[in-house]
Amino acid sequence: MKYILSVDQGTTSSRAIIFDENQKVIAESQREYELSYPKDGWVEANPRTILDTVKEVINEVLTTTGVKVACCGITNQRESVVVWNKHTGEEVYPAIIWQDRRTNEFCRSLALKKPKFEKQLRQKTGLLLDPYFSATKIQWILKNVSGAMKLAQKGDLCCGTIDSFLVWHLTEENNHLTDVTNASRTMLMDIRSCQWDQELLREFDIPESMLPEIKNNDYNFGTIKSNHSFPITGVIGDQQSALFGQDCLSLGDMKITFGTGCFLMVNTLKEIVYSKSNLLTTVGYQIGSNKESTFSVEGSIYSAGSAIQWLRDGLKVFDNTKHSENFINSNFDSGGVKFVPAFTGLGAPHWNSSIRASFQGIQRDTSINDLVTSVFKSICFQTREIVEALIIDGIEVNKYRVDGGMIKNNLFLQMLSDTLNKEIIIPNFVESTALGAYKMACVGSKISLEGQKSYSITSPNQERVIFMDIEYKDWKKNLKNLISIQD
Ligand code: ADP
Repeated sequence: MKYILSVDQGTTSSRAIIFDENQKVIAESQREYELSYPKDGWVEANPRTILDTVKEVINEVLTTTGVKVACCGITNQRESVVVWNKHTGEEVYPAIIWQDRRTNEFCRSLALKKPKFEKQLRQKTGLLLDPYFSATKIQWILKNVSGAMKLAQKGDLCCGTIDSFLVWHLTEENNHLTDVTNASRTMLMDIRSCQWDQELLREFDIPESMLPEIKNNDYNFGTIKSNHSFPITGVIGDQQSALFGQDCLSLGDMKITFGTGCFLMVNTLKEIVYSKSNLLTTVGYQIGSNKESTFSVEGSIYSAGSAIQWLRDGLKVFDNTKHSENFINSNFDSGGVKFVPAFTGLGAPHWNSSIRASFQGIQRDTSINDLVTSVFKSICFQTREIVEALIIDGIEVNKYRVDGGMIKNNLFLQMLSDTLNKEIIIPNFVESTALGAYKMACVGSKISLEGQKSYSITSPNQERVIFMDIEYKDWKKNLKNLISIQD
């Protein structure tokens, strides 16, 4: 029997799972870690903590099982960046996390100053000029950390997304590599050639020598030396990993991941579809070294599970997110209360960094349950906004597969099905992201993929479909008003 290690480096925790070649979980370990919020809109993490938690979970699953693994796959939070010294391995600044909005003003003024550049950027990268992506985060570090630009120009600094930082530190060879899915989220790679783009590097003032080499997902990224040595034969960004893990390999297959944020991704195979409604075009995966990518269209919602965490930690409505289900009104009526979950602005399709979260329609008899119900509804409604954007873009979705921490909540899944008026396909094994890295490592190591897929389905309740449709339209109108007041 062969064993495969899957490492999932997420926004708030690092996880390791050992699977056998039949997709059975042999051991699992997880360490949560803290983010810091030094200023409004800033989100940072200690890169050492990220690295240490990854090492700890790997050691734990290897020592508790005592098995030798054949290979390892890594999946990770995307867009977050680290800049470190090539000689010492020391980072020059904390990791800037994907949710960080510190470069918002810079992006806005660049878009105003150079509208043609913004158009070109979209054509090349499939993304929008937004602080969410890595480029302006790297640029900020180079501009604001004393001496950093000089060191970078001398070729003494490395930068990378979290995959790249981990591969450099975990491999014996200190390989400075990244995979094409992570690179496609930096705003520096041309998705048509899968190469760093010289013009973009010039515009953001980032020396190319700092950047990792871009590789296909099933490349041999180097060797990890633990109690035994094994290769990393798969690296893939978390959302693409969930797409791959959920076997969304045909045209129109979609997965929706409800974790800290919510990410919808549809496979468009070899076609690069540019969205007219502010969705992103990104590389889905690339297998083999012939540089032939499979593409996807993505809608990113910043706050989903994080809004439920806020109900737990901020409002102290419950002490465990699994109890949140008890606070949802079973008829999904929130007593007229509407919620906009814009804790760090709104992602697709609005891309509004200035708006902040708010409740509307609170009355004297509003209950805690009404508030909680409205928060869950807002997550469903944001998902519907993206589904509508996909329809406008002419993308036909044939399957609605879900995953992520929130899908443990059955009432939420029913609410989602009623909002979308679609059957929702729920995998019995919820860790699709870790599963994707496992599968990619198997592809890279030429281990054939076995194992049973088992799913359950939630179907819409037609009476509530009508109710949720009215509620959605009302919520949209309210959001439009809020955005116009802010403008
Ligand atoms: P990530 O990979 O982004 O760290 P996960 O996929 O592990 O996220 O999901 C964690 C999120 O799921 C948390 O934000 C948490 O609030 C949410 N969550 C977990 N269980 C439930 C539940 N039963 N109901 C609603 N939300 C939940």
